[in-house]
Amino acid sequence: LLGADGVVMPTIFAEMSALAARTGAINLGQGFPDDDPPRVMVDAARAAIADGLNQYPPGRGVPDLLAAIAEHQRRFHGLEIDPEREVIVTAGATEAIAATLLALVDSPDDEVVVFEPFYDSYAAVVALAGAQLRTVPLRRPDFQPDPEELAAAVTDRTRVILVNDPHNPTGTVFSAEVRAEIVRLAERHDAVILTDEVYEHLVFDGAHVPIATMPGAAERTLTISSAGKTFSVTGWKVGWIHGPAELITAVLTVKQFLTYVNAGPLQPAVAAGLRIEDAFFTDACERLAAKHTQLREGLEAAGFAVTPPQGGYFTVADAASLGGSDADAFCRALPEQCGVAAIPISAFVTAPHRADYAGLVRFAACKKPEVIAEAAIRLAALH
Ligand code: PMP
Ligand code: GLN
Repeated sequence: LLGADGVVMPTIFAEMSALAARTGAINLGQGFPDDDPPRVMVDAARAAIADGLNQYPPGRGVPDLLAAIAEHQRRFHGLEIDPEREVIVTAGATEAIAATLLALVDSPDDEVVVFEPFYDSYAAVVALAGAQLRTVPLRRPDFQPDPEELAAAVTDRTRVILVNDPHNPTGTVFSAEVRAEIVRLAERHDAVILTDEVYEHLVFDGAHVPIATMPGAAERTLTISSAGKTFSVTGWKVGWIHGPAELITAVLTVKQFLTYVNAGPLQPAVAAGLRIEDAFFTDACERLAAKHTQLREGLEAAGFAVTPPQGGYFTVADAASLGGSDADAFCRALPEQCGVAAIPISAFVTAPHRADYAGLVRFAACKKPEVIAEAAIRLAALH
């Protein structure tokens, strides 16, 4: 996690956002939206601070938010959760991932199976936990895993299978067969399924299917989500994790020494968000899908080959035909070259698989249409 000179290496997101700021580029790198959150959430946060909810909240989370998470999981996914025993609030999805891996993995022989490319914190936390990372590549063109490679990766040493669906960075949504296979392998090898579903409301065709709803899954699955993406509040860092009470107790045991508790006044505000009517969630998803279409048209006009995402914030484009077969170098030059910042997929893969994804670039679509339009004009200059 340290550079050769002992200096902390910035994450790819920090690095590219700094480059975008320095060059005045449009930042389609780090995934954060430029929309405002729902009014009801802003008002609730203001009221909570004004009404004096400014001291430590309970460690599991504010009871109203725990109840709202349980209501939300029942309303959208038909999942039944005991809000007092089976859910905790965390500092974003990031803390939920860290606390869980630190809680469940305790020997250098333990393995965590992760699909690659992967969200950057997964490999970092597996390293912090002192465990082994086993990766299963998501194969082009549709970024689904090969069933044989998946089956080979899960063994009796596997403690956790870490799923991210919808997937960052590829935009893939796992097929029902892949989901069923993950559950079957977890059962056979007695592994826990840890599933990061922060993009649960951003599935463009059909509804999101949490892996916890698959037969046999609930008893061994910990499901993570976050307010950041759903409500355009990435800076609030309010997330949650739910699953069987004994696993949640293990996660809470670690969580209490990571952050102890999380921002009190933001919790009733997130509860208010989770209770907004269905139309809010479908509108947000439709608006994002339209932005992806707009972004794709701009990227294709500029000469990229685009894989349309099935969900989430990101569109992946192949820069090979633009001379970008080394996407890392391409993304480092892009802000100076045409005033747009993006992230190379190589930042999310292990060294042995870097060549499989060499020319791929991730662009964030969660920006206002006029921002995407301006980015498209700038990218057209690459031709
Ligand atoms: N998981 C995935 C897949 C993400 O894309 C992100 C970034 N939004 C996170 C986790 C982190 O979420 P949070 O900001 O809630 O910690
Ligand atoms: N989740 C966001 C992304 O993938 C950013 C998270 C971060 O900056 N760590 O771009």
